[in-house]
Amino acid sequence: MNESTRPNKCGLGPTGSMLHEERQGLALLRFPMLSAEPGLRHAVFTRIGGASRGPYSELNVGLGAGDQPDRVWENRKRVQRAMGGGRPVFLRQRHGVRVVLSGNGSAAPELADAVITDRPEDLLLIQVADCQAVIVHDPVRRVVANIHSGWRGSVADIIGKTVATMKRRFGCRPQHLMAGVGPSLGPCCAEFVHYRKEIPPALWHYKIDENHFDFWSMSVDQLRAAGVAGRRIQVAGLCTRCRTDLFYSYRGEKTTGRFAVVAGLARDEDQRR
Ligand SMILES: [Zn+2]
Repeated sequence: MNESTRPNKCGLGPTGSMLHEERQGLALLRFPMLSAEPGLRHAVFTRIGGASRGPYSELNVGLGAGDQPDRVWENRKRVQRAMGGGRPVFLRQRHGVRVVLSGNGSAAPELADAVITDRPEDLLLIQVADCQAVIVHDPVRRVVANIHSGWRGSVADIIGKTVATMKRRFGCRPQHLMAGVGPSLGPCCAEFVHYRKEIPPALWHYKIDENHFDFWSMSVDQLRAAGVAGRRIQVAGLCTRCRTDLFYSYRGEKTTGRFAVVAGLARDEDQRR
């Protein structure tokens, strides 16, 4: 057993630079830099500690992947509780580039792939199984965004579009922003045999060999192009397909669940804790 496969004390195995924590039976990871922000609550939930069984075990928060809905709702409740409460905001993620503000319109989840809020009650929740969830926080304007960026989102630069919306709608200044790029398909497993059709040539320099792409670097570059300082960006660096002990992987498992990446602004009571 080498260094990279040796389990750590919590039994999660190596979690790279991410902090790990157990809350109410759920195992979650946090970005060290974002954890130091008193104005932000965030967590990357693993699949550990939920009610789902079989290929969806355990903490699947995705409806529509074939899991029993009552179990999914129970899991969503556990996530909400582990975050200390708040109003969960889900999206109907479409691999598009629509960015919405939470609290606009109906209670039904919006068809969108990024959501922004300045309301401390809101818990922005992105569901993933190989795609990236990217959290962007502005501690000055007190605004947070959670972005779903699969390869289509990466190609379309939904990250840049979200930061542009934060600037336009909330007056955010890029130099104040900080970001975390969640566990997702790593360069080790992001194989695109049809990349000539799927990925524009302008992005081929992210190809690390025959047909594997480094989407983590692409996201860092998109954040930087939007004005976020490199030292204010953290990448989890955990590949979902390599780590199905912790995460769901669509590529690795096909029939599988979705894990939750949650971000919200701290409420007064959170800051007093
Ligand atoms: Zn991998």
